[in-house]
Amino acid sequence: MGGKRKKRTKIVRVKPQIPKTFECPRCGKIAITIKFDKSDSGPRTAHIKCGSCGLSTDLEGLPPVYDEANVYGKFLDLYLEGKLEIKERSEEETEDHEDQGEDSEVSPETN
Ligand SMILES: [Zn+2]
Repeated sequence: MGGKRKKRTKIVRVKPQIPKTFECPRCGKIAITIKFDKSDSGPRTAHIKCGSCGLSTDLEGLPPVYDEANVYGKFLDLYLEGKLEIKERSEEETEDHEDQGEDSEVSPETN
């Protein structure tokens, strides 16, 4: 008597799916990736990069609780405020080949 009833509880693990890519505020493509620096504790640094247009920047001093979404929000704010130091991924700087054609300035001769 007195059987032990095992109640089967189904544990459904809901994994919150954090999108790994975010929309780039510059080129508008979903190509922003965020990577964290390895840090045991304390403020962290996040590296933000757009795989499409090459936009790249770092956010330093982030609270350890920040995840990608938090970082992206902060990144967006700073970007829109123009406070971000944007680095270009491509090291080749497109040189401005400005052809300075000689302006033939014809000074009217007053005669
Ligand atoms: Zn972009």
